[in-house]
Amino acid sequence: MSWAAAILTLYPEMFPGPLGLSLAGRALAEGKWSLDTVQIRDFATDRHRSVDDTPAGGGAGMVMRADVLGAAVDHALARQPRAPLLAMTPRGRPLAQDFVRELAAGPGVSILCGRFEGMDERLFEARPILPVSIGDYVLSGGETAAIVLLDACVRLLPGVMGAALSGEEESFEGGLLEYPQYTRPNIWEGRMIPEVLRSGDHAKIAAWRKARSIEDTRLRRPDLMERHGDASGRSPSGAR
Ligand code: SAM
Repeated sequence: MSWAAAILTLYPEMFPGPLGLSLAGRALAEGKWSLDTVQIRDFATDRHRSVDDTPAGGGAGMVMRADVLGAAVDHALARQPRAPLLAMTPRGRPLAQDFVRELAAGPGVSILCGRFEGMDERLFEARPILPVSIGDYVLSGGETAAIVLLDACVRLLPGVMGAALSGEEESFEGGLLEYPQYTRPNIWEGRMIPEVLRSGDHAKIAAWRKARSIEDTRLRRPDLMERHGDASGRSPSGAR
């Protein structure tokens, strides 16, 4: 059975969206993964089919109702009992490559997409749901966040990426950013591709790449450097 994604959303028409193109789209067409959508509104019980109501305690906007979401989630859990159930929310665990790998190695994923001011908190107490955030900013809905998460997972599925190695060397896989990449022309606007990359000396190239990976991570993502330590023997803070 292929890796299966189920999306619980008020906007099923947003899928597959960009996931129907390029690498993920080809893999979808080849059956390497599957994508189902579930319309949350189908689980509304009143005659207006309402899925939201005003926030308890007052305040702006609307909140997605626990009873409607609970029924939609139960449907997803019954259909995919072995797949983890995630809810996209800025209040969730930050998405990172190690978690993406874990998800890609499993049977698939069910994803609940929020709208409005978010979801009634009792849902998270009553159901086995893992809240996940894709970053410290606020989107208007969970659908684009779900697309980001699925894109990251699908490219790691067996047979999806051409060269398996291109995945292993990438940013975050070893805790660092990837080294910088170059391609022809050798000179562009007076700038040369670094000499060492054209030397054919694989040991030297590997050493240069490792050094640049550390240097760029230190400059651009000191937070990653802190977690990774320093392969060059320096302490994470930069002191020898
Ligand atoms: N009021 C919420 C807050 O401040 O935490 C934000 C609600 S947001 C306008 C509506 C929906 O977009 C959320 O329920 C969630 O599904 C999705 N969303 C927004 N930002 C997100 C993020 N950084 N990561 C994952 N999902 C996000």
